[in-house]
Amino acid sequence: MIIQLRPHTDPARVQAMAELLDAIIVRQNGHSLLLTTSKLKTLAPEIREEAEAVFVMETDIQLASAQYQRKKREVKIGDLVIGGETNHTLMITGPCAVETESQIDSVASFAHSMGVKVLRAGSYKPRTSPYSFQGLGLEGLQLLAKMRDKYGLKIITEVKDATHVDAVIEYADIIQVGAKAMYDQGTLRACGRARKPVLIKRGFGSTLQEFVQAAEFVLSGGNEEVMLCERGIRTFETKTRFTLDLCGVAYLKEHTNLPVILDPSHAMGYRYGVSDLARACTAMGVDGLLIETHPDPDRAWSDASQQLNFEEFKALYESLHSVAAAVGRKIV
Ligand code: PEP
Ligand code: MN
Repeated sequence: MIIQLRPHTDPARVQAMAELLDAIIVRQNGHSLLLTTSKLKTLAPEIREEAEAVFVMETDIQLASAQYQRKKREVKIGDLVIGGETNHTLMITGPCAVETESQIDSVASFAHSMGVKVLRAGSYKPRTSPYSFQGLGLEGLQLLAKMRDKYGLKIITEVKDATHVDAVIEYADIIQVGAKAMYDQGTLRACGRARKPVLIKRGFGSTLQEFVQAAEFVLSGGNEEVMLCERGIRTFETKTRFTLDLCGVAYLKEHTNLPVILDPSHAMGYRYGVSDLARACTAMGVDGLLIETHPDPDRAWSDASQQLNFEEFKALYESLHSVAAAVGRKIV
């Protein structure tokens, strides 16, 4: 249940009610909210009369639910805004990982020349093998910060667990919670305390309920700027790396108030399908796309098979403007 208290409710009274209801207190939309389990369906009259509005929720998808707030939340990345009523589709591109200064500089310079505003690259890579490249760690974050200064790009980079979450929060403009970190409570709670936008990737074995509940950890921690990223789930199919759940995207658009970003690169796993999928994603009217691009994909240190080269990215990017326009959106 979400209990929106009257303005100017005495803070001691707010605290007492929260303790009584075992509720989380959060400030949102200029109000104090008490957030309880969705199992709570009725309130004692003395608490009911302190409330301006009460939302009885079906499940623990609460702050993220369109039932609580139909209007899509806005996320601000510097002076770029997505969500709300903007009809913006944000392009995010960059390599899977920061490898060397010349590699990331080459992608940053290319992205900047194309008019792309947000550069992606991982520096803490959650690999499935301990023998693979694990990322440059702090050095990679520093290189990304250098690219931000040099090209005026915003930076999104991944946190894989709570051990380095503070460093990622410090350096990134958008904190990416990786698919494998979607359940990491330490990471989610740190993101809830952060005052930067957070993009949460869907764990590839997670239901939509679990996915959106991960966002609830961040929202109920007081951070309102959360984006959901569908990046493919595991199904019986093995010919593609994952299966991009576009039905799930339709669900998220209808039933949540969070901007939705799509990542066709990790879903497909192969370069040949990424551009077609990206156009299909754009046609779904989503809030952003995340596309892996590398100066020399075949030699990439991670995810070599799925990254686009610059020529492929340029052709894709140019084709997306008319697809976006056809569904009333603008690529930013
Ligand atoms: C990535 O974005 O490079 C990445 C590792 O993605 P995911 O967490 O979706 O696997
Ligand atoms: Mn990758």
